[in-house]
Amino acid sequence: MKVPLLDLKIQNDALRPDIDRAIKKVLDSNGFILGAEVSELEAQLARYCQTEYAIGCASGTDALLLALMALDVSVGDEVITTPYSFFATASSITRLGATPVFVDIDPQTYNLDVSQIEAKINEKTKAIQPVHLYGQCAAMDELQKISGKYNVPLIEDAAQAIGAEDGERRAGAMSAVGCFSFYPSKNLGAMGDAGFMTTNDEALAKKLFALRVHGSFERYYHKWVGLNSRLDAMQAAILRVKLPHLDSWTQARQRNAENYRRLFTDAGLAEVITLPFERENVRHIYNQFVIRAPNKRDELRSFLNENEIGTDIYYPVSLHLQECFAYLNYGENDFPESLRASRETLALPIYPELNGEQQQFVVAKIAEFYS
Ligand SMILES: *Cc1c(COP(=O)(O)O)cnc(C)c1O
Repeated sequence: MKVPLLDLKIQNDALRPDIDRAIKKVLDSNGFILGAEVSELEAQLARYCQTEYAIGCASGTDALLLALMALDVSVGDEVITTPYSFFATASSITRLGATPVFVDIDPQTYNLDVSQIEAKINEKTKAIQPVHLYGQCAAMDELQKISGKYNVPLIEDAAQAIGAEDGERRAGAMSAVGCFSFYPSKNLGAMGDAGFMTTNDEALAKKLFALRVHGSFERYYHKWVGLNSRLDAMQAAILRVKLPHLDSWTQARQRNAENYRRLFTDAGLAEVITLPFERENVRHIYNQFVIRAPNKRDELRSFLNENEIGTDIYYPVSLHLQECFAYLNYGENDFPESLRASRETLALPIYPELNGEQQQFVVAKIAEFYS
């Protein structure tokens, strides 16, 4: 039995007639950059994320970059963030000449260990950029307290967390700017690169709308040096077909997660591997279902691969150890939990259309490996 890590074909085939129609409409309109498709999507996204504004852009990476630019982060500034994330979480900071100041993760959630943040705040700290890793929000209550106490804004890297909730609040609605990605493997994926930002601050929204078009409000008059980072009408049209299905896809991911928990527990594996930890009072959207396998993770991965079960490691190299960040002079053991996570975690298939038989096969093969 083949169990890919992600299978987009089932989802896309089911929506094919609607997607074809949406693409044709854009082709017929001959408007390809921004326009009505994008503004309509932005209105729907703002509603979905429970924010005043949503601003489309070219990728999740650009969303982070634009958010930092909107907060005037530049040369010499520091931004506190996690070393256990996708590269763009940190590269967005260094790209502006600012310095990422890493804080280790909590070993249960893999999100920022908020108890270690205050010690890193100083007069250079311009922002704190938590990541809602795998689809579960970072500890936003504590982060908001720290943000308020030191008057340092938060930027949510919510690229993996569209629709995630911490208490009653949605990802992207708990900070100055929320940053999202429509990379095809996210819960809501485009057919190419795309992303967006959310905010409740009118002035920041205006600035973000301008920064994505070269920093101009009026064509050929430039208030800031912005980016060319627009959302294509074609991607927006496709995303508008997909957005109404997002909640049912997320529910299917949550059902799959519950099913894995039951299967792993029944197989007596709950002690051998560590299942994802869900904080209380959250909506975890399971962009990834990541287990911790302290014993022979890489051999397990090869064994699953031989059995046609797709897995991945998010992430094999902690950001403080990336070659391009050697100049930051971090030592290997500066963030022991991040390092340990990079050696022990393994993402299993969790996509909405994954069926019960496939899940049983995955768990049976893991049981076979450890038997
Ligand atoms: C996917 C992702 C990004 C980047 O998004 P792109 O659209 O691929 O540029 C940033 N941060 C995290 C945590 C991500 O998972």
